[in-house]
Amino acid sequence: MNIVILGPQGSGKGTQAKLTADKFNLIHIETGKLLREIADSNDPLSEEIKKIMNEGRLVSDSILEKVISSKLRDNHSGNGFVFDGTPRNRAQYDKINELLSLSHGKLDKVIVINISEDETLRRLSSRRTCEECGKVYNVITNPSPKGEFCECGGKLVQREDDKPESIRKRLQTYNEHTSKVISMAKKDGILYVIDGERPIGEIFAEITVILEKIDG
Ligand code: AMP
Repeated sequence: MNIVILGPQGSGKGTQAKLTADKFNLIHIETGKLLREIADSNDPLSEEIKKIMNEGRLVSDSILEKVISSKLRDNHSGNGFVFDGTPRNRAQYDKINELLSLSHGKLDKVIVINISEDETLRRLSSRRTCEECGKVYNVITNPSPKGEFCECGGKLVQREDDKPESIRKRLQTYNEHTSKVISMAKKDGILYVIDGERPIGEIFAEITVILEKIDG
């Protein structure tokens, strides 16, 4: 079973993708995280990727293909994948289907978690990430018990691309590109749109119902 979880920044797609991967024993492919790891490494592409990410633009389809194809290759014998943060455009949608077809798979469901633009801005501008371990907090909804520091002792910082100008740019890019992915999934009869302005457990219960329908 291969699932896409889409949603604007701050929609909680990462949390839902993680819960889904655990429950259904799927590999979680989070492209934003994979790209951030490359940006922070000594990879020859790191500076280019860092710049693009900080400006809230999308990396090229060829960089993205490189990142996901190695993940798919390494895990092709498992139960399937949860894609989180990709596909973000039509070319990526086709490419993922093409790569999955190499092991006789395809995208089975695309789940879109919707939240309003105001809610995105509110949630992201209060997000903080630990410099050491990468744990994510929210100063309003999920603050660290250690204030400005993570429970591991690391300093909590605001991601460059969680600053308001970057957030607006990322949202604009999300809307422009993702609308095409949404129409392709609709055409393929695999689209599910759900309301993301609800408690995490309620959203996950709805996702579970959608996914269990596939198997049943
Ligand atoms: P995210 O954490 O999913 O918002 O991703 C952070 C940033 O990584 C994005 O603003 C893009 O610059 C880059 N990125 C993540 N996924 C993709 C993708 N599928 N295609 C192109 N760029 C991506």
